[in-house]
Amino acid sequence: MSPVPRHLLPETSAERADGSLEIGGVSTLDLAAQYGTPLFVYDEQHLRSRCREAVTSFGADRVVYATKAFLCRAMARLVHEEGLMLDVATSGELFVALSAGVPASRCVLHGNNKSLDELRFAITSGVHHINVDSFDELDRLDTLHREGLPVPRVALRITPGVEAHTHEYIATGQDDSKFGFNLANGDAARAVSRADRSPSVELMGLHCHIGSNVFAVSSFARAAEVMAAFAAPYDLPELTLGGGLGVAYVEGEQAPSISEWATVLLDACRSLGVRSAITVEPGRSIVANAAVTLYSVGTIKDIPGVRSYLSVDGGMSDNPRPVLYGSGYEAFLPRAWGADRVRAVRVVGKHCESGDILINDAMVPADTAVGDVLAMPVTGAYGYSMSSNYNMVGKPAVVFVRDGKSRLVLRRQTHEDLVALDID
Ligand SMILES: *Cc1c(COP(=O)(O)O)cnc(C)c1O
Repeated sequence: MSPVPRHLLPETSAERADGSLEIGGVSTLDLAAQYGTPLFVYDEQHLRSRCREAVTSFGADRVVYATKAFLCRAMARLVHEEGLMLDVATSGELFVALSAGVPASRCVLHGNNKSLDELRFAITSGVHHINVDSFDELDRLDTLHREGLPVPRVALRITPGVEAHTHEYIATGQDDSKFGFNLANGDAARAVSRADRSPSVELMGLHCHIGSNVFAVSSFARAAEVMAAFAAPYDLPELTLGGGLGVAYVEGEQAPSISEWATVLLDACRSLGVRSAITVEPGRSIVANAAVTLYSVGTIKDIPGVRSYLSVDGGMSDNPRPVLYGSGYEAFLPRAWGADRVRAVRVVGKHCESGDILINDAMVPADTAVGDVLAMPVTGAYGYSMSSNYNMVGKPAVVFVRDGKSRLVLRRQTHEDLVALDID
C-alpha cells in the first residue's frame, strides 16, 4: 500500500530533509519527545483555514461551531476569533466557552434533555438563543419565565424525517429519534403554534440536524427542501440546517469541501425561495483533519498464520470511535511518512479488553518496530472530546502547532488528577 494520502493530513504537513513529518513547521518526532505520547497535535493554520472557509461560504454570523467535536479554552478562543459562534449542548460546554472569554451572546444552547439548571444558567448568562427540543423543555421555559428570568430567543428543533446515510448512532433526522419535534406527526406544527403564542419565549427560527459524517450533499438538499416547505408559512428570521458534513478518514474516501457543501445548500435554499437567513453548525469538518494522534509502539506480537498485533500506549480511552462506530483510520510512521506501507497489523490499545482496537486492518512500513512513533491522522474530532479514564489511563496532552512553534493547550493528566475527585 502506498504512503498515507496527503489529503488526510493537516494542511501544513511537510517533509523534512530526513524524510520525517513536520506540522506547522514543527517536527512531529520532536513533539513526541518533548510532550510524550499519546499526543494530539493540532495544526492551528488548518483550523483557522476551515473556519475561514465556513465564514466565507456561509457569511459572517451564520456559522456556529459544534463544540462537542473538540473543545478546550484555546479552541473556543480560536473559533471565536475567526468569527464563528459556538454551539454548546450542556452547561459544561457553555461553562468552558465562557471561561475562555467567549461572550454568552456568541453561544447557542442545544440538547434533547436540558435541565432547569442548564436553561437557567444559559438564560442568566445571556446566550444568543436556545434550540428547544421538546414540549417538556417549553414547560421548563414557562417555569423560568414565572421565576422572572428574561425571555430567551429560541429556535425549535424539527425532525424532518430525512434519512441520512451514515451510522445509525449518529443519524438524527429520521422519525424514530430522541431529538426534536416530529414533523410528520404534527408535533412540529403544534410546537410552533405554542412557541409563537407563548410569553415565555421569543420564537426566532427553526432548526434541524440530519446526522453526522454525511457524505451525500444531496441529503442536505433534501432536508433543506423539507424544512423550507414546513417553514415557509411562518416566515421566521432564521433557519438552521445542521452540521454533519462528512470527512475522509481513510484512503479512497473523498468528502465534499465546506464550500461545496455551502454551494449545494445555499443553491437549494435559493431555488426553494427561502427568505430566512441560513445558519449551519459544522463540527467535524472544522476539526477532524486538523489533527493527528502520535502514539508510541510498545509491543508487537506476531501470531504466524493469524495476524500481528501492534500495541500502542493509548487506545479506546483517547479514541473510542472505532469501538463505537466501527470507524476506520490509517496509520503511518512520522519518521518516514513517505514510506510504502506493506505490513498488515491490527493496531490495538493498552486497555484490558480485546475490543480495544484502533485500526482493525492497518498497513504500516515493513521496518515498523517497538519504540517507533506511530501516527493516526484525522483524529481531531470526537477523539479527545470523547476520551475517558478507562483503566485509569490519564487523558493525553494536546498541542497546537503554528509557524515553527508548539503550544501546550491541554496538559496530560497526571496520576494525581485520577484521584482528584476522591473524598477520602
Ligand atoms: C453534532 C451536531 C453538530 C455537528 O455535527 P458534525 O457532524 O460534527 O458537523 C451540529 N449540530 C448539532 C445539533 C449536533 O448535534
